[in-house]
Amino acid sequence: MNKFQILVVEDDAPVRNLITTTLRANNYRFITAGSGESAVSETASHNPDIILLDLGLPDIDGVEVIRRIRSWSNVPIIVISARSEDSDKIDALDAGADDYLTKPFSVDELLARLRVTQRRIALMQSIGNEQAIYQNGALKIDYSAGCAWMGEEELRMTPMEYKLLCLLARNTGRVLTHKFILQNVWGSSWENDVGTLRVFMATLRKKLETAPGSPQYIQTHIGVGYRMQKVE
Ligand code: CA
Repeated sequence: MNKFQILVVEDDAPVRNLITTTLRANNYRFITAGSGESAVSETASHNPDIILLDLGLPDIDGVEVIRRIRSWSNVPIIVISARSEDSDKIDALDAGADDYLTKPFSVDELLARLRVTQRRIALMQSIGNEQAIYQNGALKIDYSAGCAWMGEEELRMTPMEYKLLCLLARNTGRVLTHKFILQNVWGSSWENDVGTLRVFMATLRKKLETAPGSPQYIQTHIGVGYRMQKVE
């Protein structure tokens, strides 16, 4: 029995039924909400493990729902958006969503996103955000010493590359937008400089990845941002 409880927020009944049928078949527990207001109140009263949140809701906007929930909770939020709502998806990630699914999505995609999020929860519970040592596959970061290794080999990085690596590592499993990364690594005046970020990401990947063309650690989300993946 899968002990995770999912809050499904979706006003479109057929989509909601597809999701809940899938969850039931895969032994997830779930509760549902059909509006933004009820999403916020259900989160407060049931404390779900993961929220699946449609962005187009009849009352308050999905991005506003995220802001309200984030004011008191770190529960992982996976947003569900239509393809036409690409900028909303980025706003949702910047507001604190962890991941996204684009409609129409398959049952397999939904389950894959849930597994990624469950791994993130497990990783965060085992490592703890404030602990000094981060371990993911062969990658190890000693936050207090300010250095990182790949296997036995210490990685030689510039201060910016190290800062970028730490930001990705501390958010393992989350999709971080270009804007979020630029603001947190370089400061807000650089927030539109996606070209710079791409260059730093390429050099960082050369140091981390055995095959930078098919990266194992840092995943690219075209037009959106990057994600550090949990490596087994
Ligand atoms: Ca909707």
